[in-house]
Amino acid sequence: MHKLLRQIPSVDECLLALLHDEILAEIPAGLLKKGIRVVLEAQRQEILSGKEIAADALTLPVLLSQIKAAILALNQPRFRRVINATGVIIHTNLGRSVLPESAALVLAQAAINYSNLEFDLAAGKRGSRYALVEELLCELSGAEAALVVNNNAAAVLIALDTLAKGKEAIVSRGQLVEIGGSFRIPEVMARSGAKLVEVGATNRTHLKDYQQAINAETGLLLKVHTSNYRIIGFTSAVSNEELVQLGHEHNLPVMEDLGSGCLVDLSPFGLEKEPTVQEVVASGVDVVTFSGDKLLGGPQAGIILGKREIIEQIKKNPLNRALRIDKFTLASLEAVLRLYRDPITVCERIPTLQMISAPLALVGQRAEQLVALLQERISKFCAVQTVDTLAQVGGGAMPEQHLASRGVELRPSFMRVSRLEKELRSLAVPVIGRIEDDRLLLDMRTVREDELILIAEGLEQIFQRGGEAL
Ligand SMILES: *Cc1c(COP(=O)(O)O)cnc(C)c1O
Repeated sequence: MHKLLRQIPSVDECLLALLHDEILAEIPAGLLKKGIRVVLEAQRQEILSGKEIAADALTLPVLLSQIKAAILALNQPRFRRVINATGVIIHTNLGRSVLPESAALVLAQAAINYSNLEFDLAAGKRGSRYALVEELLCELSGAEAALVVNNNAAAVLIALDTLAKGKEAIVSRGQLVEIGGSFRIPEVMARSGAKLVEVGATNRTHLKDYQQAINAETGLLLKVHTSNYRIIGFTSAVSNEELVQLGHEHNLPVMEDLGSGCLVDLSPFGLEKEPTVQEVVASGVDVVTFSGDKLLGGPQAGIILGKREIIEQIKKNPLNRALRIDKFTLASLEAVLRLYRDPITVCERIPTLQMISAPLALVGQRAEQLVALLQERISKFCAVQTVDTLAQVGGGAMPEQHLASRGVELRPSFMRVSRLEKELRSLAVPVIGRIEDDRLLLDMRTVREDELILIAEGLEQIFQRGGEAL
């Protein structure tokens, strides 16, 4: 063992050997040393564990090639673009919504230039950052006033903190949702200092349940859109209009957390009719909150719409300063919202809506195109064909509803499907697909045409390497 340990070269020895390597020329010395140490330490542990060591494992050329790979891996940015071939359009793990190009361009402008973030250009003095999007949000939704915070969880928190702190907030038992990532309505309410009062049964809540729960301590009537699950069967919920009437009879504000608020009706594309943001505002509720990066298709944000007096109260809450959005969110949100002014083209221009509304034939064409690219590259190693698939909206929106879609099915001949899935994740531009019935599926509803060649070349690389190893 000691003899083996002594054979491990020193860090300096390795460093010297790598000094003139062109691929590593731009990499700082500190990172080179880190990579060297990682590999040498792994060898040391291997020896100490008493495992059999290959005869050439400790030679400089073998170690150097491992070290080079380790250094290049360490030098890779951790934040990476990926190709989403899962068919889940609003995929929280993969960054939710993809921005339209116009929004990405203003984002870059906001990044490299000064801006009027909090400067009123007409008056020549300090302005409000929210003014930049408030007017547009009101124009599109019909609301009196608007505010944007960091995300919808923050929107719910600040609204509850403002309206129901130290008071009771009445919620239907069927709407105590958990969104994932530990956002639970009861817990957010506890944080805000509002006391939760549950009414009704899980499947049915009636107006009289709310009515009976109202007392001197009540501060708010709250509705939560059950965006990520559905209670079906013998159910009943109270309409916004009824709840608004009840609230206003008792001088209580009514709030709805819409979750994945949408400004366009998506039912023409095969999805169930959900109330649009405009409809919810028109129902008379005092506050509506929803995410910027779910069905809206914009940047991460929490949008709060409502009656002027209430929004003014929320704006003055000190939490607002802690939850405020940055210039990148503002710039890209404005760019996305501007696209909603034209209802004819909006579904074409916002990627999230475009993926939902794309006709099946178009998605099918992309599947055919990918198969054609793959035929010439990997047909020796893998069976490839187009298949029917089911895509999903995702983001906790419309969970049980599927969109008819088309994809490409891969059945490798000499490789496990799980290995192929892992190799796809390891590509320079990782491709995320899904395994179903011992085949790998790449759903084309979430893949852009310009990404097809990247997928094809990536798969070619994987099978070339695999082929050599055989
Ligand atoms: C997604 C969701 C949230 C959380 O929104 P984020 O923007 O992720 O913070 C809150 N409430 C509901 C009903 C949701 O669907």
